[in-house]
Amino acid sequence: MLKEKFMLEINNIKKYYGSFLALNNICLKLKPNQLVVLLGPNGAGKSTLFSIITGLVRADSGSCVINGNNIASQSIGALKNLGVVFQQPTIDLELTVKENLLFHARLHGLRVASLKKIIEKELNENGLEKKINKKVRTLSGGERRKVELIRSLLHEPKMLLMDEPTVGLDPRSRADLLKKILNLKSSKNLSVLWTTHLVDEAEKADKIIILDKGEIIAIGSKKEILSMAKENKLAKAFLKLVEEK
Ligand code: ADP
Ligand code: MG
Repeated sequence: MLKEKFMLEINNIKKYYGSFLALNNICLKLKPNQLVVLLGPNGAGKSTLFSIITGLVRADSGSCVINGNNIASQSIGALKNLGVVFQQPTIDLELTVKENLLFHARLHGLRVASLKKIIEKELNENGLEKKINKKVRTLSGGERRKVELIRSLLHEPKMLLMDEPTVGLDPRSRADLLKKILNLKSSKNLSVLWTTHLVDEAEKADKIIILDKGEIIAIGSKKEILSMAKENKLAKAFLKLVEEK
């Protein structure tokens, strides 16, 4: 039988900060064309897990493999496959949209000439065509996040990580971003890992992982989570599972 292909395989990750156990035995797998929402309250360990997946922080034990590359020992191969939007914006406010995007393209060793058209097309599709030569400082929060998303996909990664990408966005921009991700997932066969503390953002996920105090307390489709909690609304199921732990 053919072995199933996973874009991300996390096995038994543990992470301590001093004597504080921030992540305990985390296991998760992501397939292509799958949106996994990591749902957890503040302090659950979502960003810590992101730092491990992106190689910024070493786990104390366990492994993290991205498209066959171990992030600890084959980080260049692993990072090539990753597009990342961090929790805190990492975009230069004093550069224009175009400068930010082209700088990132150069960092990745991409051919800038061929990218100029792609950048124009992406900005167009996101309603940002008039902003191309504007400093990022003049853009709204939602527009900045869209630019970060476009930037994260320039090198055509197979997997996209977004850490609480909707924090600070108004409801309209939030819904827009989620819709955009769902489209991208199918059109580019992307694996997406999206973290949030907002239950409604998990409604359309293929798989939901509930993380609390460094532990996975539930994992499954929305239907499975509802049935685990014996509830008919995700918000209630989330609260019940977190309280019952
Ligand atoms: P989340 O992203 O889910 O809000 P974090 O991963 O940021 O959670 O944090 C998980 C826990 O680890 C929190 O209790 C936080 O205070 C702690 N923590 C995070 N980073 C550090 C650090 N560098 N040193 C010590 N404790 C940390
Ligand atoms: Mg966080």
